[in-house]
Amino acid sequence: MSMTVAYEVGNALYLNITNRCTNNCSFCVRYKPQGAGVLSEMNLWLEREPSVDEVIKDIQKRAISKYKELVFCGYGEPMVRTDDIIEICRNLKEKYSIPIRINTNGQANLIYGRDIAPRLEGLIDSVSISLNAKNKENYQSVCQSIFGDAAFDAVLDFAARCKKYVPKVTLSVVDFIPGEDIQICREIAQNIGVEFRVRQFAK
Ligand code: SF4
Repeated sequence: MSMTVAYEVGNALYLNITNRCTNNCSFCVRYKPQGAGVLSEMNLWLEREPSVDEVIKDIQKRAISKYKELVFCGYGEPMVRTDDIIEICRNLKEKYSIPIRINTNGQANLIYGRDIAPRLEGLIDSVSISLNAKNKENYQSVCQSIFGDAAFDAVLDFAARCKKYVPKVTLSVVDFIPGEDIQICREIAQNIGVEFRVRQFAK
């Protein structure tokens, strides 16, 4: 397989399993010719989506014990393949104790039309959800979800639901939004009872 599925970022192993996404964010690295920031050295465009077996084999090519975390991330929204993520994690959790995180846009329940958060229990250790806006109008203008105005509230609802099944849930924003908006997002995270993180925008 010439395409990049597993790739290192710091001391974590990232997994690029799809390029599909339900958003079309203005800042997305998918739309920059060479990607951006830490991703600029790699081509994360997939010729086709790797199968569950191919993802597991690509992980097992590495010395897994040297990583502190596995992270589903990449050019795209990993949770469009939630069924496959569950299968991959079931397999890995039988063999390894490495913590597993998903970086997501938080729209999985809209994608699946039901609450999938309970399925993460015991398999996913951390979910990091991009919020990126203080309200649904701003969210839709930056992220352009295919679900329209329903997306923002669904993202918050997903964060609240994940809290019951996943040890660490984080809402994150990118640092290019105004400081007062960051503060409002921080309060939103506090009200839901999840962690909050400001991510550096990769230029
Ligand atoms: S949610 Fe992530 S992958 Fe999807 S368009 Fe936005 S930045 Fe890109």
